[in-house]
Amino acid sequence: MVDWSGGNDTGPTPRKDAIWACIVREGCLLEPEYLRNRLVAEQWLEALIRTELDAGRRLFLGFDFPFGYPAGFARAMTGADDPLALWDWFERHIEDTPKANNRFDLAGQINLNFGGNGPFWMNGLRRDIDGLPRRKTDYTNPFPDRRVVETLAKGSFTCWQMAGAGAVGGQVMMGLPVLNRLRHRFAGQVAVWPFQPQGTPVAFVEIWPSLTLGAPPAGRIKDAWQVEQVTLTLSRLSEQELKAQMKVSAAEEGWILGVAQDKPNIAPPPLRNDCFALPAGVEWTPVDEALTFLRDRLHPITSVETLALTKVSGRILAEDVIAQRSNPPQPNTAVDGFGFAGPVPVGTQVMPLVDGRAAAGIPFEGHVPEGRALRVLTGAALPDGVDTVILEEDVTVKDGHIAFHGPLKKGTNTRRAGEDVAAGDMALPVGRRLTPADLALMSAVGIAEVNVRKPLRVAVVSTGDELVEPGDIAGPGQIFDANRPMLLSLIERIGFVPVDVGRVSDDRDALRDRLDQAAGQADVILTSGGASAGDEDHVSALLREAGAMQHWRIALKPGRPLALGLWSGVPVFGLPGNPVAAMVCTLIFARPALGLMSGEGWVDPQGFEVPAAFEKRKKPGRREYLRARVRNGRAEVFHSEGSGRISGLSWAEGLVEIEDGARHIKPGDPVHFIPYGSFGV
Ligand code: AMP
Ligand code: MG
Repeated sequence: MVDWSGGNDTGPTPRKDAIWACIVREGCLLEPEYLRNRLVAEQWLEALIRTELDAGRRLFLGFDFPFGYPAGFARAMTGADDPLALWDWFERHIEDTPKANNRFDLAGQINLNFGGNGPFWMNGLRRDIDGLPRRKTDYTNPFPDRRVVETLAKGSFTCWQMAGAGAVGGQVMMGLPVLNRLRHRFAGQVAVWPFQPQGTPVAFVEIWPSLTLGAPPAGRIKDAWQVEQVTLTLSRLSEQELKAQMKVSAAEEGWILGVAQDKPNIAPPPLRNDCFALPAGVEWTPVDEALTFLRDRLHPITSVETLALTKVSGRILAEDVIAQRSNPPQPNTAVDGFGFAGPVPVGTQVMPLVDGRAAAGIPFEGHVPEGRALRVLTGAALPDGVDTVILEEDVTVKDGHIAFHGPLKKGTNTRRAGEDVAAGDMALPVGRRLTPADLALMSAVGIAEVNVRKPLRVAVVSTGDELVEPGDIAGPGQIFDANRPMLLSLIERIGFVPVDVGRVSDDRDALRDRLDQAAGQADVILTSGGASAGDEDHVSALLREAGAMQHWRIALKPGRPLALGLWSGVPVFGLPGNPVAAMVCTLIFARPALGLMSGEGWVDPQGFEVPAAFEKRKKPGRREYLRARVRNGRAEVFHSEGSGRISGLSWAEGLVEIEDGARHIKPGDPVHFIPYGSFGV
């Protein structure tokens, strides 16, 4: 295995950022080899290949740079989608000597063919290069920014970035010509993975040790240690494991060995048929037990996608976000003023000023000598020699000097690098629903793209012969569909995607069709009505027919049985028809379950204790939720507990939760109030 380098000769002494290679031959690990430049490396590789071929052995030769570019680049450069044609092209155009090479100039020349602001970026040289931007301002890239494999490999860099710590753009350009010469020199004996069929004695494969390996043990050179580790790891794979890793389809872009071809969670496993099964023989299940069941049985069912930072507000993180850069990145000044080396003793201070200034984005390049001060503006990186800043308002300036009163502690008015977030720290945890502030945080720590969950789509269906649409004419015995508008709005407010699949009469075939339709359009289905065990309770009947229905008789008021089941693999929450019960069951059961399935995790609603403004006697045996609101620091409850009173739902601003046991609540006693807002609605 070889750890490549795009830079120039780094001298005879083994050091990092040069080329390192390591061999395991017939199970025997050799010392990592220091190859000071590419000329030396190429000769070494050629000798190695010859030795192994002569000995009749086979050689699995890995290099830590991309073998291909993002789709479309090969064709744009060579007229063919063949990545090996691109290898030939680079061999013809790269000039390489131990002390100098033309990689930045070549990147600039390529860019000029595409308008001069991309695909390559970041000039690592002091001199300007036509066509190669130093920064990503005005950057335009006619090709994808990343290869498919790089969207899956956390921590990888793009091949377009030519300089900067960890960048690989230079390595690719300086590596491909060498490999190209070798593969031609040993034509017929070398296969380049994954572009060419395997079976030859020598395989070239792409590896990326630093994706999985961290810091070396004390005293070891990082590159030497990493290359040794990766060589050992690969040598220990069985033939079968290695074959499995090498089975990828990567067309022209190539692939990093060991990166799983499937996106993590691209198709989360479906819920199990018995996921809603409660223990047998229990008559009424307590609310907490029912919730624990949901929490244990359900898991995220949405897939993951990678989106640009500007597109992820309100989305749920599919993985922890790790800070790529510290905030602040360097020590800087928190105020406008004058910077110098602290601390400063008591008494009047007079300091000569150094010429120049430091401002945000415009660093002062020189050194500020001890006892002298420099003009600094808020956000400016602290120049060499400055660790303390005095506020402009506390200073008089005259004749190139400043005067002010001490004492001043070292570090005053400055911000330490990483004092907010250090690179490598977890900036945000998986499951987080991203807020505007989170976007600021991620931007500051260098995140441009994020893996987020696709939004959970929740279908809503109302059932009942008696229902008519608001706005239609309601005949005798008919009522307006109140649940559907309420449920759709609840879903939207919680942050999921509501899918309106309408109203169905109490007709089994019609309902079956509607459930099919809902299952095709949504990740979860909420129905209301028809969830009991009566003749007209078709939701229960159909779910039972589908073989995956559970009646949840929960010790809860208000609430009738819930019918939980799967329809074509899609979880169905059969809510009671009564709007008060439908809303309470949605908030108490569906809300946390949906959160879990969306990838957000299980969230218990935050409530708080307030004195009651009412009196109530409650029998033991079930949990009760009263429609309530807080006025003058006390919880009031709606004057009627009647479950048909929709006006009480609307009057209320939350629910008072009364525990399962018996209780006699007197005015002034503490009760647990959960505002609607705590459910996210
Ligand atoms: P069910 O669960 O179907 O027996 O319905 C229980 C009660 O809720 C009945 O009085 C229904 O008329 C009423 N109901 C059912 N669905 C709705 C709805 N979408 N809007 C308003 N009331 C409903
Ligand atoms: Mg009904």
